[in-house]
Amino acid sequence: MVQKYGGSSVADAERIRRVARRVVATHQTGRPVVVVVSAMGDTTDHLIELAHQISPSPPKREMDMLLSTGEQVSIALLAMAIQEEGAEAISLTGAQVGIRTDSQHMRARIQEVRTERILHELSQGRIVIVAGFQGIDDLNDITTLGRGGSDTTAVALAAALKAERCEIYTDVDGVYTADPRVVPEARRLEWVAYGEMLELASLGAVVLQPRAVEYAAQHGVVLWVRSSFVEGPGTVVREVSPMEHARVVVGVTHDRNVAKVVVVDVPDRPGVAHQLFNALAQEEINVDMIVQTTKAQQATDLLFTVTRDDLPRAKQIVEAVARDLGATAVQEDPSVAKVSIVGAGMMSHPGVAARMFGALAEGGINIHVISTSEIKISCLIDEERVEEAVRRVHQAFRLDQLDSEEAPAPQEATS
Ligand code: ASP
Ligand code: MG
Repeated sequence: MVQKYGGSSVADAERIRRVARRVVATHQTGRPVVVVVSAMGDTTDHLIELAHQISPSPPKREMDMLLSTGEQVSIALLAMAIQEEGAEAISLTGAQVGIRTDSQHMRARIQEVRTERILHELSQGRIVIVAGFQGIDDLNDITTLGRGGSDTTAVALAAALKAERCEIYTDVDGVYTADPRVVPEARRLEWVAYGEMLELASLGAVVLQPRAVEYAAQHGVVLWVRSSFVEGPGTVVREVSPMEHARVVVGVTHDRNVAKVVVVDVPDRPGVAHQLFNALAQEEINVDMIVQTTKAQQATDLLFTVTRDDLPRAKQIVEAVARDLGATAVQEDPSVAKVSIVGAGMMSHPGVAARMFGALAEGGINIHVISTSEIKISCLIDEERVEEAVRRVHQAFRLDQLDSEEAPAPQEATS
């Protein structure tokens, strides 16, 4: 069994003791336990801040050296707390475990997980505590897996150890149909399909690192998202058969970290979009929605979105390319937000988009851009209307009544 505890679950000594008791209780049922922990509370944020007080763009290798210390503190303290509870425990860093990654500092990908050391410690009856978020590359340099990367550590260990299950303990008691702070009647999902969870996670429902969901899907690791503060069944993330997709939509998400850029009057000829988006890609700026409008003349408008954090850099790059292309203007709008619905059932149900647009229209909420995938529809709207939009769409799909009984989750655990 692999359990992962996030930063809020180990934010102080008392919480670490609480996690220790939970882990020991599981261990006493006779199951070998591997625990993955994140850095305490906001440690990672503070370390990043500290680095930026020293350098505006700190070398990534040194960032990894710095950030990985956060998790090392948590594992040592948790191992001590478990020993105080009378059980045997040992803490291990990513390097000690043998989590081998590529060399892309701050967003490394796991390539291999060696299990000998863990298996040896487990065979000695010890609880193994592993530092999340970190690995080691071919040069034996420390790498980190991107923000929220402890989730991926847990999933990778669960896959490599062929764990019976992978439990992700966090400060919320599961995945909801919408952010309960915005929609009080939002419901906890009993289960959700990998593909749905991936969309939800990428769209701003920050419960799991998207990469962890992807990894779990690839390796068939069943994930349990649960609260470390209250008892409850949580949400199970797993493979779902088409027959189970009776639920057309499983959630409404919103994301405020969005900004819109419009390049006005770009020439309508081959290669233009490539030139523009290639320039952005080279600076590693992710572009999300893209729309190209058709006009009467030999020019078009290109509209796209980036995260708000990337807007200043994106604007610089785009302005240079726009001059080159002879575009007449570059406009930006940071006060937009994205509202999305997710559900694998929409593949086989017509009228889903119409229902979403209807809910927004009723509120007089204007849509700037629409984008869709097989299981997702996103609308870009004014930021000031975003919470109202989420509530209206949630209501339109009657998600407050989503019947959790219709498809039971797998057997509940007793830990
Ligand atoms: N401590 C890292 C972060 O805050 C990794 C994690 O929490 O999963 O991003
Ligand atoms: Mg975290």
